[in-house]
Amino acid sequence: MISFRTGRAAASDARAGRPPLTLEDGARVAVVGGGPAGSFFSYFLLNLAHLVDLDLKVDIFEPRPFTHCGPAGCNHCGGIVSESLVQLLAAEGVNLPLDAVQRGIDSYQLHMDVGQVRIETPLQEQRIAAVYRGNGPRSSEPRMLLGFDRFLQELACEHGATLRRRLVTGVEFSPSEARIACAEGDGGSYDFVAVAAGINTALAGQIAPPGTQPRRAQTLTTFICEFHLGSDVVDAYFGNSMHVFLIDLPRLEFAALIPKGEYVTMCMLGHDVDEALVNAFLNTPQVRECFPGGRVPDNVCHCFPRINVRQHPQPFGDRFVMIGDCGVTRLYKDGIGSSYRTAKAAALTAVLHGIGEENFRDYFAPTCRAITRDNAIGRAVFQGSHLFQRFRFTRRALLRMTTLEQQSKTSARRLSGILWDVFSGSAPYNDVMMRGCHPSFLAGLLGNLVAANLPKVGRSSATGSSQ
Ligand SMILES: Cc1cc2nc3c(=O)[nH]c(=O)nc-3n(C[C@H](O)[C@H](O)[C@H](O)COP(=O)(O)OP(=O)(O)OC[C@H]3O[C@@H](n4cnc5c(N)ncnc54)[C@H](O)[C@@H]3O)c2cc1C
Repeated sequence: MISFRTGRAAASDARAGRPPLTLEDGARVAVVGGGPAGSFFSYFLLNLAHLVDLDLKVDIFEPRPFTHCGPAGCNHCGGIVSESLVQLLAAEGVNLPLDAVQRGIDSYQLHMDVGQVRIETPLQEQRIAAVYRGNGPRSSEPRMLLGFDRFLQELACEHGATLRRRLVTGVEFSPSEARIACAEGDGGSYDFVAVAAGINTALAGQIAPPGTQPRRAQTLTTFICEFHLGSDVVDAYFGNSMHVFLIDLPRLEFAALIPKGEYVTMCMLGHDVDEALVNAFLNTPQVRECFPGGRVPDNVCHCFPRINVRQHPQPFGDRFVMIGDCGVTRLYKDGIGSSYRTAKAAALTAVLHGIGEENFRDYFAPTCRAITRDNAIGRAVFQGSHLFQRFRFTRRALLRMTTLEQQSKTSARRLSGILWDVFSGSAPYNDVMMRGCHPSFLAGLLGNLVAANLPKVGRSSATGSSQ
């Protein structure tokens, strides 16, 4: 019998007075959900197991066929893969294939009622990828796009995982195993279960250790839709820019239009986005002017998915761990990147330390805590951005300062860098906050607040394309 447990993990189990829970040769692992978290987890688990000569059988339970167009084949999302994740993946030897990338985003176009400004990528070599999560929007044309989730799932299967196209309806734990129940009947028994079912599923609120009440992460309702415009119009009107909006609409946190092939994806995050808020947003002049003739076309596909805004209170226990959205994720941005982080931390813990609650508390929970702590700072960052969203004089200052930075070849581009990282999710919120508190940034902002709001000076040429 081979054990890869560390002394510390073994000691914690010894304290609890029970035999250590570890993955042994031939152990069976169920991964519930084959989205990014499930596929990343399977990939890391099998790679690590291979490195330590551990033979595991990994089954991914995923009923969604990512080859279907429209909602049936899609894990509803804006589809922005942050530059930090693209780089992390490349360092692992995983390169996002070009046919999975619908467009490389090299700039943000910030739209406000006081004008608009284009923010270029801070470093020329860094790009963000816009991907589809499935086989593209609902459409009558037969196509076979390489969606991001299919790419990751195939990667996991190439490394030894087995895909089981089944919907899991429950997981029952006993001291010696976990039993999977499927819509079609018994799914089999496993030594360890990684729950990666996201947050848009009843299962997210049903997993709990024996004798405890199931709980779930806190969520908000968001909105996504797709507009079919054709490649020429998308090129001419949207280019390689993601269009973001700072508009004073109650409940709206963030909204963006993302060009992808013949389509443009619209994402709205906020406090329980509903049809009234979607219509109010689509009727603003800033949104209408993005489309040919100032007319927003009917969407071809839409959904109201939920997003995790507060972590699951107990995302692990003996023989199970919750990764990705159903556990903890980054607030509003880079959810795929945090799926990567939690999946990797869970796989490392399971292979190198053990699969008991204590092991996850010692080695997995610190990753969750780091994300949660950063989210607390993220809430403060978004509160700060509400100030700019709410007042016209602050929006004028923001427009002036960003435009001047973008026009200058030599400026430190402090505000542009902050906006880029908030929009793209490429840097931790803590990092963004530190830069926002820098005395030079605050002095520059103060100067622009005054200059942008002085009579006549406020609408000088320095404000770019102001209205
Ligand atoms: C409006 C919106 C925009 C977003 N934009 C971005 C963005 O641009 N970039 C970014 O990085 N993140 C974005 N996110 C967040 C991102 O979508 C998630 O963080 C990410 O998808 C989480 O991955 P996951 O694998 O944990 O969950 P999911 O992607 O939800 O995958 C869960 C998988 O589990 C399967 N499943 C569910 N229930 C069961 C079951 N009972 N049995 C078996 N399988 C099951 C599902 O079919 C699915 O394939 C956005 C989210 C929203 C709501």
